[in-house]
Amino acid sequence: MHRSGVQGEAIRAHVRRTLTPKGELVPVAFVRCPREARMVEMTRCATCGHCAELFVEEATQTPVLSCQLSPAARPRSRAGSSPRPGARSVGEALERETICLEPDVDLKTCAAIFRRFRLGRAPVLDADGGLLGTLSRGRLAAELRRARASCHPGSGGDRRARVAERLSARRVGDVLEPAGATVSDAAPLARAAALLLEAHQDELIVLDERGQVVGAISAREMHRSTRLTFALV
Ligand code: SF4
Repeated sequence: MHRSGVQGEAIRAHVRRTLTPKGELVPVAFVRCPREARMVEMTRCATCGHCAELFVEEATQTPVLSCQLSPAARPRSRAGSSPRPGARSVGEALERETICLEPDVDLKTCAAIFRRFRLGRAPVLDADGGLLGTLSRGRLAAELRRARASCHPGSGGDRRARVAERLSARRVGDVLEPAGATVSDAAPLARAAALLLEAHQDELIVLDERGQVVGAISAREMHRSTRLTFALV
């Protein structure tokens, strides 16, 4: 779909893609709603009276919403006010799509997705999009070493095939790691930065008000977003 030129604020979606046991990446698009000042599933916009248009940005294939909510109806941006540096929320700073995993995905399929998207860690979700834990590249690599060690080169057959078979028999849910500290999409970036430091983590998983995973944000992304805010005021 292409934009027809309808007036309104163009809001780009943040897409969460969840890997299923069949190897499919199921997308859910979120947008930061200016009326609620937090992330909502984009499907809600289709039935909202303020939605002028939904379309897909050609260059990036990102879903975009044209929202006609008036500035007067926005709780955090009243007419005449200017944005305060550091007052941006986590939801406003989310940049990249987030790859998540279902717990029943096998480790061979999982390893292919980690390579394709160059993932360091991925959230693991329950059926409602809630956070069960995470899986890291380090843990996957340890499972690969374990599978190789149990398939001795001299024991006959195709060793690579046997290693792949062992990985296929293990599920993400078998090797789940703790999620660590998380942050609300409505929290200020300064709060997220403090949490990162306290928890000694590289990134935080971002949850909406229902506890559903919306995405993840790293220290680098927070830093970049804060610099952009200062540049705009
Ligand atoms: S269209 Fe409605 S639900 Fe969607 S972002 Fe705008 S005000 Fe929020």
